[in-house]
Amino acid sequence: MDSKLIDHLMRNKRSPHGEIAVVLFEHCNLSCSFCPQNHNDTTGMESILDKLPSVRESMYRFNNVGKQLITLNIQGGELFSDFVPDSVFDDYYEFARIAQDYAACMGIPMSVAWGSNLVHTKTERVLELFRRLETDVCEANLMVSYDPVSRFNRADLDSFRSNMELYGDHVKAVNITLTRPNIRKFLSGDTEYFDELYEKYFCAFDFYQLERNRAVNAPTDQDLQDMFRLLAEKYPRSNPIVGLLTQDKNESLYQHTENASETISGFCDTTLSGKIFDDESVTFQRMEAKWLEDYGCLTCQYFDRCSLGPIPQNFLQPEYRTLSECWIKTVHEKAR
Ligand code: SF4
Repeated sequence: MDSKLIDHLMRNKRSPHGEIAVVLFEHCNLSCSFCPQNHNDTTGMESILDKLPSVRESMYRFNNVGKQLITLNIQGGELFSDFVPDSVFDDYYEFARIAQDYAACMGIPMSVAWGSNLVHTKTERVLELFRRLETDVCEANLMVSYDPVSRFNRADLDSFRSNMELYGDHVKAVNITLTRPNIRKFLSGDTEYFDELYEKYFCAFDFYQLERNRAVNAPTDQDLQDMFRLLAEKYPRSNPIVGLLTQDKNESLYQHTENASETISGFCDTTLSGKIFDDESVTFQRMEAKWLEDYGCLTCQYFDRCSLGPIPQNFLQPEYRTLSECWIKTVHEKAR
């Protein structure tokens, strides 16, 4: 498919919102089975500010393609683990302050979100960081994650719950990764504490894009169809189902992410896409074209309103395609 044609077809589907994910280091206090990071490795913890130039480059790229808003997602590893030295919290503050200066110079609005598993006991230094940020720099938003399968033992779940109460309004979203085991837990209703989270917070289901334990963790299109039917029935205010049900393209499943990390984290698009196309330099545009062609989108009755699929590389691989029709159609049928 010609690149100009793809740009034309996708003109109303590409999000105006750009997301920069920066992985500061991989050290973490938990060990989720799908996570590709080396959680014993503290590399990067002593050189947080060195990642700023690649964040600035990502901002330039987004600015050049006309993104109207940037979210800077700052992640580990685990940023707020009790293991992290106090001095690193000063670097967090400087990192956010300088990144906000870059965005202001480019005239592009930016919000900053801190990713955390929220299992820690040293809470005062986190609250102090948030106080400083909100006084001098920007709102201190937390993106936390919930996983019903491989994340929490009893003590960790208790710590997570207590910190959710403590940080309260800072929590902007609870993210859940759609691994196959997680989908099965949701389908069987075995998700302790999740309904309470759904009542209080914005919940967002992320697509599994990582390589670790891929054969076990990557869902098929049938798994996703089953899960989206459940979301439409039981959790219709969660992302991305809310956008599909309300036909709001800005709540698209589809969003560009720039990974500004210099660590090898498994979040890199080209690592997986190279296996599909035998070409490490494959572009997102080629994945879009493959999605449109494989699913026959141009003759689909829902094409005009469809935000299209997540387009992560998993779902373009033949082994994860088990249904003859696109699984997203089921969700559109629900919205009619
Ligand atoms: S429902 Fe499926 S086939 Fe139809 S436009 Fe959306 S992604 Fe393409």
